[in-house]
Amino acid sequence: MTDLNPRYGDACDPCLIRIADRPAPAPLIGICDGDALIAGYRCPACGHQWVTTWALVPGRTLPPEPGPAAVEHLPELAARVSELAAMNRAHRTPARPDAN
Ligand SMILES: [Zn+2]
Repeated sequence: MTDLNPRYGDACDPCLIRIADRPAPAPLIGICDGDALIAGYRCPACGHQWVTTWALVPGRTLPPEPGPAAVEHLPELAARVSELAAMNRAHRTPARPDAN
């Protein structure tokens, strides 16, 4: 079966509104966490940046993890990817019995 999205491409919302047939950008950076990929995107056409979480699909091309170069050149995107990964981990972590 052919994978119709082999690079975790995602549509840029502002460009979807303007040009419906623009190709979906692939993520520039990402963090694998369990069975999920937290991916960060920057639209090459308009510069819009966003993050999203995907379920990992075996065989798909993974983006690089946010290393020093990403932090230097895409600091806001690298921070947002790390923040979403932390929020996802928090949602999966049960509250301590002594909390509250
Ligand atoms: Zn765009």
